Amino acid sequence: GRATERLAFRAETKRLLDIVTNSLYEDKEVYLRELVSNASDALEKARHAALTETPNEEELAIKIATDEGEGKVLVVSDNGVGMTREELMENLGTIARSGSKAFLEGLDADADAASNIIGKFGVGFYASFMVSDKVEVISNAGARGDGKAWKWSSTGDGEFTIEEATESDEAPTRGTKIVMHIKSDDKHLTSKWGVETVLKKYSSFVAFPVLLNGHKMNDVGALWMKDEKDITDDDSIAFYRFVSGASDMPPFRMSFKADAPMTIRSLLYFPEENPERVAGFGGQTNSGVSLYARRVMIQEKTEKLLPAFLRFVRGVVDCEDIPLNISRESLQDSMLVMRLGQIITKRVLKFLDEKAKKEPEKYNKWFANLGFFLKEGVCSEYAYKLELAELLRYESSSTETGKLTSFREYAARMPEGQDKVYYIVAPSRLQAEASPYLEAAKSRGYEVLFLYAHIDEFVMQHLMSVAGKQLVSVEAANLDVDGEKADGEESKSNDAAALDDAAGAELCKWFSDDALAGKLKEVKLSNRLVSSPALISGHEPEAMRRYRMVQTMASD
Ligand code: ADP
Ligand code: MG
Repeated sequence: GRATERLAFRAETKRLLDIVTNSLYEDKEVYLRELVSNASDALEKARHAALTETPNEEELAIKIATDEGEGKVLVVSDNGVGMTREELMENLGTIARSGSKAFLEGLDADADAASNIIGKFGVGFYASFMVSDKVEVISNAGARGDGKAWKWSSTGDGEFTIEEATESDEAPTRGTKIVMHIKSDDKHLTSKWGVETVLKKYSSFVAFPVLLNGHKMNDVGALWMKDEKDITDDDSIAFYRFVSGASDMPPFRMSFKADAPMTIRSLLYFPEENPERVAGFGGQTNSGVSLYARRVMIQEKTEKLLPAFLRFVRGVVDCEDIPLNISRESLQDSMLVMRLGQIITKRVLKFLDEKAKKEPEKYNKWFANLGFFLKEGVCSEYAYKLELAELLRYESSSTETGKLTSFREYAARMPEGQDKVYYIVAPSRLQAEASPYLEAAKSRGYEVLFLYAHIDEFVMQHLMSVAGKQLVSVEAANLDVDGEKADGEESKSNDAAALDDAAGAELCKWFSDDALAGKLKEVKLSNRLVSSPALISGHEPEAMRRYRMVQTMASD
């Protein structure tokens, strides 16, 4: 065979390893979650291959062996697809996965967040170095490989070695065996008791038997196949932790089953926390829904299943009609997957609508954190615009601070004579309430929706109308003050001090020719105001103004 080859880690891998081995003291236990999940992935691939290519001879399982006497060595093995020599070099020598990259980028943004991030996302295989002085990976790719087992080995510094496995390595005939030489401080984590605790926490739903020193630890439950009434809250939360890797408490879960037009079993979660804010990476996260067919994973975190705005949804969709041997490429443009995605999307929106009606408090609280995604949907997915509009909630001049209202509720409150839905874009409630543009609407008893987010104005432009009522910004509405209704103290005192036509014209001329010469197109007397002296009209929308301001500031 070939002699031992010594290779250097790529620079970013080196950096990650350095952080993993030297600065992460909390959440060390996630090392096991990462290794079990890798073993499970490898078994999933083997199961998939068995259904389409070569059958598996032994039962697929993950075996963990502790070394109770000394606590120095922990072995995690699987009889999954294994790795060839090249795969060992490529997969374990470079940062192959986006999760690890995101981890590093997250660190750049906030170095203190390291242990927080690892708890939620993990760093993949390299997590094994959090508890090990040395890690050996002995792998055999079986029929896919060159007939040999290979051993990858590293102490987690700058280099790793690759050599042919020897008899004493007891290599599997197919699969991977990871031998960890445990740091003396971490033996409590890798004792039988320590391993058992961590397995219960993270790996209860692994779809293959997990054996600890020969004893089966999990009951291999595919929770999404169960009836809603048979799903306990404890199992549900454990399952959510497993599929999402997140630690929040999702307020809603949807168990959706259908037998026509497709056979669907699904269990989906609506997180409490915005996963993109938790991540702190500032970027978009990927899909959180995995596609299965009859309990066999087809693809983890399937991109093309749900529209991008539903990327916050977590869980599993199992559809019997998807062929097992579907390739990654054909998955992308499969009509079947598209249809399935549409069915699930409609269901998700209907489900949220029901929750919004039955549990408005809970829904509104959820919306305050995650509503951004629905707004994004209005702007990006024409097909679901109307369903999404029903789900939007805003504060308004008629709600208390922090309380939200829907377009539907707004419409039900509209007084006679009001035929449009009015909104104002402002950074805060205080600024919205103080705006001169609000005065005319208020004088007429018209409610005005308060839009605080940058995206809201685009949402209104995409919707244009709701339930046949035009959506109009009070800035552009040109509403006159209703003389009778606004006959309060303020307007009376205004009347008393009102200028006659000639004096008014003179004042306008002074503004446009002297005081603000060249800065204005026209100055007019207006009926739009009650207590403010002046307002600017005919300008571009608020969001555009803010956008321009940022642009100007950036170029200064
Ligand atoms: P990820 O699992 O997200 O891809 P990891 O860092 O956990 O990232 O693993 C890197 C890669 O190493 C995996 O994608 C896989 O190709 C390979 N790998 C790790 N563990 C195993 C295993 N037990 N069997 C086969 N391949 C594995
Ligand atoms: Mg992994």
